[in-house]
Amino acid sequence: MAFTKKTVRDIDVDGKRVLMRVDFNVPLDENGNVTDDTRIKAAIPTIKYLVDHNAKVILMSHLGRPKGDGPEPKLSLKPAADKLRELTGLDVTFVPDTYGDEAKAAADALKPGQVLVLENVRFVKAEKKNDPEIAKTLASLGDIFVLDAFGTAHRAQGSVVGPAAYLPAVAGFLLENEVDTLTGLFGDPDRPFVAILGGSKVSDKIGVIDHLLDSADTLIIGGGMAYTFLAAKGYEVGKSLLQEDWIDRAKDMMKKAEQNGVDLLLPIDTVVADAFDNDANTKVVASDEIPADWQGLDIGPATEKLFGDAIAKANTVFWNGPMGVFEMPSFEHGTKAVAEAIAANDHCKSVIGGGDSVAAINKFGLADKMTFISTGGGASMELVEGKDLPGVEALLDA
Ligand code: ADP
Ligand code: MG
Repeated sequence: MAFTKKTVRDIDVDGKRVLMRVDFNVPLDENGNVTDDTRIKAAIPTIKYLVDHNAKVILMSHLGRPKGDGPEPKLSLKPAADKLRELTGLDVTFVPDTYGDEAKAAADALKPGQVLVLENVRFVKAEKKNDPEIAKTLASLGDIFVLDAFGTAHRAQGSVVGPAAYLPAVAGFLLENEVDTLTGLFGDPDRPFVAILGGSKVSDKIGVIDHLLDSADTLIIGGGMAYTFLAAKGYEVGKSLLQEDWIDRAKDMMKKAEQNGVDLLLPIDTVVADAFDNDANTKVVASDEIPADWQGLDIGPATEKLFGDAIAKANTVFWNGPMGVFEMPSFEHGTKAVAEAIAANDHCKSVIGGGDSVAAINKFGLADKMTFISTGGGASMELVEGKDLPGVEALLDA
């Protein structure tokens, strides 16, 4: 499936004021320094393209969770603007205003090739509700609207979809690349296509499971959600994470896998612990022999081998959700084994989505072995569920 919307390549930006929504929602330390600049780096290709094509670039983003009733110095976008200048060497200025006269004056004073960063769009509550006044005020700052904030493209908020009602609206390269890659999984993936799901809850991922069962050849389920599937097979899961209300849905999914000829792989053994604690007593048991007082916190070695063998044969891999409680070193082994199996398969295209899965891959230092790591948690999952993103829908059709 190709990207069906216009991008910055399809519009003349020469000398124009280009208002761009980016995702600069970066973590800051207590001194206000950016501790992870991944999201800023991800926006640079589009920013550079616009500067190279003589545009006046106006950037806006949210950062953190402001209360929405005025400026909060700890959540200012100034550190992000400083980081952007440092990373690119471009002429980047920051204005401590978003919707007022100061922002307007700074935008009007911009020269081609200059970049202006506005203050946090969420210092005003109405932004989250896609208020038309917010949209109109923002739109008045630019001649063209660009959406490159993939991480918020699933939210119909004032700075994400609003200006598209008043200005010609197109996608940036990050948005295009993310949507293209994630929807491409369901178009014509190179087979075998192996999807790996984990994480905590079945309820969070049911739409993802359902949609993947329409296109994957093999669906691997690990992590906390696997115990609801094991319960659906009639196994006792002890004190493991279990969503009893979702056992029937798990049964439906197993039936769907069978009907669609999808190989559904569940853990055959599991690492159980006598407490939810890194220092708990642990042992490996078969999945149908989980003791009543113990809880499963990772997949076992036989399961690592089972999953690893399937991954080794894949030509396309999609992975979302850790195989165990990887935050605790005692229960990271299964997640690490899956990451290493993907890294070792040098003929497959690997796509990773989800906040914790990406954190796990970074923790193991394997990020550069993956073909594509999505920058959006929620937005990437909505695409993998087969949903449209409101931010993308609002853009001009190609
Ligand atoms: P992602 O952010 O990649 O989409 P999720 O948010 O769905 O992933 O799930 C991540 C969480 O799942 C992690 O905090 C991890 O500790 C938890 N988890 C994984 N396996 C288990 C398990 N067996 N029991 C309890 N929690 C688990
Ligand atoms: Mg998560």
